Amino acid sequence: MQIRNHAADTVYEEIYDKLLLAPGGSPVKPPIPGADHPAIHTLWTIPDTDRIRKVVDQGEIKTALVVGAGFIGLEMAENLHARGIRVIVVEMADQALSPLDYEMAALVHSELQQQGIELHLAESVTAFEPAAEGAIVARLASGREIGADLVMLPIGVRPNTGFLEGSGIALGPRGHIVVDEDLRTSAPHVYAAGDAIEVINPLSGKKAAIPLAGPANKQGRIAAGNLSGVSPRIYDGTLGTAIEARPVGAGNDKTIVVFSGDLDKAIASFIIANGARAMGRKVTMFFTFWGLNVLRKPGKTAGLKKTRSKKPLR
Ligand SMILES: Cc1cc2nc3c(=O)[nH]c(=O)nc-3n(C[C@H](O)[C@H](O)[C@H](O)COP(=O)(O)OP(=O)(O)OC[C@H]3O[C@@H](n4cnc5c(N)ncnc54)[C@H](O)[C@@H]3O)c2cc1C
Repeated sequence: MQIRNHAADTVYEEIYDKLLLAPGGSPVKPPIPGADHPAIHTLWTIPDTDRIRKVVDQGEIKTALVVGAGFIGLEMAENLHARGIRVIVVEMADQALSPLDYEMAALVHSELQQQGIELHLAESVTAFEPAAEGAIVARLASGREIGADLVMLPIGVRPNTGFLEGSGIALGPRGHIVVDEDLRTSAPHVYAAGDAIEVINPLSGKKAAIPLAGPANKQGRIAAGNLSGVSPRIYDGTLGTAIEARPVGAGNDKTIVVFSGDLDKAIASFIIANGARAMGRKVTMFFTFWGLNVLRKPGKTAGLKKTRSKKPLR
């Protein structure tokens, strides 16, 4: 294996008994003409957040355009709106949050509308053009034009696996590392985990890319157990569920936290609940111990085998 030390600008050879690949992903930068304008931002790292916040803190941003109504896009929309900025969201699909069924997404649409966030569905940006005083105009496929002082482009993530090309390690159609249920790659003694791998969705039985921290954390622990031989476990797929804690009700003084039986989600929920209480909110917690976990029982899901040689980590 060849390692480049970027600080010293040197390259050296390294050997390994076992190797774990966890290079994660990077935000997709779409090839839209004009997308290199300084008012257009992607959000991936903490320095990205600091940069965007600095721009907003200057108080010059009156209108923000968010391209893509996925989780990160809507979180950006919510937070920019909370800063008193007019927010417009443009989404190519006919609904926000594409993993949701339309009926559930419709609730999101109506909430956005009630909050005064403009949502344009089945619309896509085809070009950006500079406007006066650092602003920008986005041209949409429908012919509509939207002017904004700041544009967020949170429209997806691709795996950082370019450095594996030519290594012989099998990659999926979109460049994700192919692993088996032990998180082993196609190369001997090489394991992989995190946003860079293809996983099985246990409900559909199909391969999927689900770049979330919870699964990445679990995969890291399982891969470590497997490559060390200390506590071998299989990884039986990713559902892509999430916990949301929202202030609800009049006066926004109440928070509801919902979680399932997974230990890490339970711990995360208690941390969220604790934080909400510290902020003076009334907290209600719902436990759904058997809810989603029952779907993951062997024999009940399309993607799981009925018998296993090793116990999956829950
Ligand atoms: C704005 C935002 C909000 C998010 N919110 C949530 C959330 O609410 N819940 C949730 O579950 N997930 C969330 N995520 C996703 C979560 O951050 C990722 O799923 C998680 O960080 C993936 O972990 P990872 O270890 O696979 O990759 P990363 O955390 O991306 O780590 C990979 C590391 O490898 C380094 N690297 C890459 N290539 C090489 C190389 N060739 N050599 C050496 N180093 C390399 C990278 O620089 C990086 O430091 C969010 C992500 C973003 C961007």
